[in-house]
Amino acid sequence: MTTLIKNVAVLTLDPAGTTHSSTNLVLDGGLIQSIGEVPLYLQPDTVIDGYNHLAVPGFFNAHCHSPMTFERGWAEDLPLDRWFNERIWVAESALTSDDVYWGAALAACEMIRGGTVAFNDHYFYMDRVAEVVAQSGLKATLTWCQFGLGADKEVGADLAGTLAFVDRWQGAADGRLRTVLGPHSPYVCPPAFLREISALAREHQLPLHIHLAESPEQVQNSLAAYGLTPAAHLAACGVFDGPCLAAHALYLTPEDIGLLAAHGVTVAHCPITYMKLAMGVNDLGALLAAGVNVALGTDGPGSNNDLDMKAAVRVAALLQKHHTRDAEALPGDLPLRLATANGARAMGFPNSGVLAPGRAADLILFDLDRPHLYPRHSLVANLVHAARASDVTHVFVDGQLLYQNGELFTLDEEKIMAEADRHARRLVGQSMQIVREYKA
Ligand SMILES: [Zn+2]
Repeated sequence: MTTLIKNVAVLTLDPAGTTHSSTNLVLDGGLIQSIGEVPLYLQPDTVIDGYNHLAVPGFFNAHCHSPMTFERGWAEDLPLDRWFNERIWVAESALTSDDVYWGAALAACEMIRGGTVAFNDHYFYMDRVAEVVAQSGLKATLTWCQFGLGADKEVGADLAGTLAFVDRWQGAADGRLRTVLGPHSPYVCPPAFLREISALAREHQLPLHIHLAESPEQVQNSLAAYGLTPAAHLAACGVFDGPCLAAHALYLTPEDIGLLAAHGVTVAHCPITYMKLAMGVNDLGALLAAGVNVALGTDGPGSNNDLDMKAAVRVAALLQKHHTRDAEALPGDLPLRLATANGARAMGFPNSGVLAPGRAADLILFDLDRPHLYPRHSLVANLVHAARASDVTHVFVDGQLLYQNGELFTLDEEKIMAEADRHARRLVGQSMQIVREYKA
């Protein structure tokens, strides 16, 4: 399957920041074959007119809970402790694997339309999310969340079950699917469990995906219980001894930042959740200066309330500038790089995130022929600060066209919206119970 995209502007996001105002892209065998002159011999199966369109690497959502679309708009205007205890964990007490399937399918429709090509998902009943990944054509790295409070307290699978899930799906869907292990957090998981799951991760050569240091109270509690900050506590439990992605990591000491850098930990930053749940924010400049790989995520639709990576790119830049009172914070194409290559690397897809010959054909086109995208002084500034998810017109994953001008080719969107809505209503209409408690 060979695709030619003609006369298209390109933002490569390569190390030099190369852009093209009008060129040609050839996609073949899941890879970008060439950028520039069209080879004379080329007989493409598909030709797309790229005039007035911009090609960029597709977004890698580095932290989300995609099935939580069913909680969109259901946990509003609450601080983190009440958000967990009164709404989120209560609704999840009635969760079924079908809810997860339809919730994730709805998320997949939304993500594809917004130019996301891959997502890093942390939730329950992950076989059902894997089905959605296989059907949708998206890439994903999936984690079956574990609390470590006893097998009866897990949702759908204990540690043995999550290892079986890993075996079923690792490398599936033509390599579009990866699986990792996911202890929920240092504030829920007991230390013995963190040590056990870290040892298992090393034994099976699996990365870890965990939440870290979301509030000052979590830091105080960790210091009181262990005499260590949450980051130092995870390091002491061996969580950072192999590849690890830590979501949020908002409250870090300079020593913590050094630990994350030394262990190659990726931090997934989800700025819209931080603003909505009034969690505060950190200075990403300090992490980046220390050499920490920072990626961008939306977090779950229960807190964001959408899965719009384009919005996350803009808000990440705005929030850093606002927080540090430095207009030069997170400049230029840097927020785009956090949302593409940095996430791709952390999620196990290092060949994605840059448009260059030989790289994965995971790319999207934006329609530039919109009032808010004139004039074109800077393609980068227009993309970061003015373009919208709804400007995305084409989405390719491994060279396969998943979406074009309003039409999804792999998913039955109408049926998915109806089923997801039905399951969401059933879920919050159940007699619900408190299954675990978040202590601030
Ligand atoms: Zn999360």
